[in-house]
Amino acid sequence: MAEMSFSSRLLALIGILTTLTSCDTIPWQEKKLKHEATTLNSSELSSIVAHTDLDRMWQKDLKSMLVVRYPGSAGSQQVQQHIKSTLSLLKAGWDVTEDSFYANTPYGQLPFTNIIATLNPTAKRQLVLACHYDSKYYPPQWDGREFLGAIDSAVPCSMILELSRAQDDELKTLKNSGSDLSLQLLFFDGEEALYQWTSEDSLYGSRHLAHKMATASHPPEATNTSQLDSIDLFVLLDLIGGPNPRFGNQFSSTTRWLSRLRNIERRLHALGQLENHPNEVQYFWPGLHVGLILDDHIPFLNRGVRILHLISTPFPAVWHTFDDNEENLDQTSISNLNKILQVFVLEYLNKKSPENQVVEGS
Ligand SMILES: [Zn+2]
Repeated sequence: MAEMSFSSRLLALIGILTTLTSCDTIPWQEKKLKHEATTLNSSELSSIVAHTDLDRMWQKDLKSMLVVRYPGSAGSQQVQQHIKSTLSLLKAGWDVTEDSFYANTPYGQLPFTNIIATLNPTAKRQLVLACHYDSKYYPPQWDGREFLGAIDSAVPCSMILELSRAQDDELKTLKNSGSDLSLQLLFFDGEEALYQWTSEDSLYGSRHLAHKMATASHPPEATNTSQLDSIDLFVLLDLIGGPNPRFGNQFSSTTRWLSRLRNIERRLHALGQLENHPNEVQYFWPGLHVGLILDDHIPFLNRGVRILHLISTPFPAVWHTFDDNEENLDQTSISNLNKILQVFVLEYLNKKSPENQVVEGS
């Protein structure tokens, strides 16, 4: 065996040092590719799950959202107000902004408003949770029947609001920690086609916001990164609330995060935290390939954002019918999914429950 020369030993040492410090040399906008979530222990999981309350979500959020709320309607204003006031009352101190604009529709120009809530706007990286709050417009010829869009998407938006309320203390601690990874909530207007789905008549809000974020520097002084680069992962919730939900896989780039949801489902099942859940895995199927579904993620996907699309497939039977209402919701699966989603978010953000954190010094 030949002895290594001084220069080759030096090169080897540099190689080791480079490996050791490589975490810090990855540009921030690429950290999402290697991001590892924390895995909470059983008592931490139980504590997080105990914070969420389905009845509270139902009374506070869902009842407020189950109104006719197509773009520009009085119900839309009411729901916008509910979203903004709910978030502004929380201790975490959300930065809530609006993206308002007019767009041409088959019914003429209509006003649209997206709501963007950011826990820490100065954080470089954001885990994004998104839903659409508008309801599909039906002309008033249906004998007074109203389309309320319970699964589409009053429940998904309520789940996001309940998450922010249930984990308010955790999110406040995260914000105060100065972490460069934070949480952003997007409530889209105008997802639904007003007349018939085309690339022009659909996704009004998400098309507008994706364009706006692509042209906004992030951090503000940056010259080559935009707010879209800040999106670690874009988690879109849609058509949730029916019985036996099943989430398949559309994107190989985010399979590991769908697998993580499956893993959380399994862990909470083992802890007896999921109701009416006989099998250890019922909801998340990373091995089940699903074709591309057109939804609010598309304008972001087309700009290179990584997507986790949590939409029940096949679509629930009540989809786009007047039966998509409160009576046809399945409470236990919504409650179970609230728990799984909340654990997913806190683990992604590497956030333990405050009462379980070890405080160093005193
Ligand atoms: Zn719809």
